[in-house]
Amino acid sequence: MDFGFGFSPSSAADLDKIDLSLYHRMEKVAPDIRTCMGCGSCSATCTGAPFSGMSLRKVILAIQRGKEREAREMLSGCMLCGKCTMVCPRGINTRNLIISLCRYWDSDKREYDFSREVEVKI
Ligand code: SF4
Ligand code: SF4
Repeated sequence: MDFGFGFSPSSAADLDKIDLSLYHRMEKVAPDIRTCMGCGSCSATCTGAPFSGMSLRKVILAIQRGKEREAREMLSGCMLCGKCTMVCPRGINTRNLIISLCRYWDSDKREYDFSREVEVKI
């Protein structure tokens, strides 16, 4: 029987299987990441969003779900303008969080090299 709708695949994260090492590392260098409530104010005001689809809310959510690659790709659209820091209702220093992420990825010398982009944007 066709009801005209279907069920989407579950997006639930299996906390026993996902890799939360990046999230735990960020908790140490930018502990206020724990207080993000996913309101989306940062994404709504983001300077880079109209050009790149940048959403800090999604970046944080991806980190919380162990999706590092997804977070990394999206963060490449950030201009480091700092508007998200000004509007965050939880007072999270989002710019510090973003810079900490870039430094972490740069120090690891993994697949993406953000160091050059960060130097230019600062
Ligand atoms: S504005 Fe702050 S609390 Fe809201 S989603 Fe962005 S970082 Fe999280
Ligand atoms: S610092 Fe980055 S994430 Fe925050 S508003 Fe500016 S472009 Fe968007």
